[in-house]
Amino acid sequence: MKIAIEELAGCSGCSIAVLDLHETLLDILEKAEIVYSPVLMDVKEPPLGIDIAFVTGAVRNEENQERLKKIRERAKIVVALGTCACYGGVSGLSMLSSQEALFRCVYQEVDTVRPDNTIPSDVPAFLYRAFAVGDLVKVNWYIPGCPPKEDRLRQILLPLIEGDRVALSRKSICSECDRKMGPIENWSLKRRHEGTPEREHCLLGQGYLCLGPVTFCGCGAMCPKKNVPCHGCNGPSLDILREPCRDIYNMMVRRIADLTDRPEKEIEAALYDVAHTMYPFTMGSEVMEDKEISRIRALIKEGS
Ligand code: SF4
Ligand code: SF4
Ligand code: SF4
Repeated sequence: MKIAIEELAGCSGCSIAVLDLHETLLDILEKAEIVYSPVLMDVKEPPLGIDIAFVTGAVRNEENQERLKKIRERAKIVVALGTCACYGGVSGLSMLSSQEALFRCVYQEVDTVRPDNTIPSDVPAFLYRAFAVGDLVKVNWYIPGCPPKEDRLRQILLPLIEGDRVALSRKSICSECDRKMGPIENWSLKRRHEGTPEREHCLLGQGYLCLGPVTFCGCGAMCPKKNVPCHGCNGPSLDILREPCRDIYNMMVRRIADLTDRPEKEIEAALYDVAHTMYPFTMGSEVMEDKEISRIRALIKEGS
């Protein structure tokens, strides 16, 4: 069994998450050989005859596109590993700015600038938009998460390599959260830095924008358990994905309106920075943008 891990537009965190499996990695290596992984080994090109290719990162430039095409041709099974590969992830937020503005920021305006303060000419050309891997090639399996958490990878990777299926929960983050719904009184939307959330009751009920109801499970509600609202890094829940009209922003508006008994218009007026609060992990996905009532297209137009 030959496995490969390809890197596209991402931060390499998903490859590091595989390393974070520690001793489970030894079990994996008993069954499979890693033949290609630019982060883990010095191999420049994916070989022929790969059984399973894990692709991490989104597709943002021509080089990403070429690499994706090549690994798809050389692998029997392609797994989109991580939210960038599944839904565009944080790489998709780049669509809120023009290529010129992004390159100026990266190469000329921040502390890591090149000594000559010029934009290099050999950076691969941007595509007109970011893509999730499944927008461009056939994907056999999706493992979302930014990065996918250790326990979830433990549950999935060995059975996948052994050709077995594994039954996983298909619910939202709320199903993994142990908070109870508290009294909803004088509800108002709070920014994260405002006050300290009370530890027992639902964060959304307390006014903090927690995306637990619209986010796919699999992290054990890690953030709410640390008193931090979920910001949706596992990607959309299945009910958002399945229905054409279900969209993160609109579902959250409806959910908050139901919870607080306030008109949806009032909730919409209170929401802020929708691109970064509602779609930070899904903006670069054609599937999410095509939702009938998604605001992604308008936000990209405004931003860029
Ligand atoms: S999903 Fe998250 S951890 Fe993985 S490459 Fe993208 S930004 Fe990095
Ligand atoms: S909205 Fe957030 S805090 Fe409330 S139950 Fe869901 S995950 Fe927990
Ligand atoms: S709680 Fe939400 S933001 Fe935190 S790790 Fe889980 S999915 Fe990501």
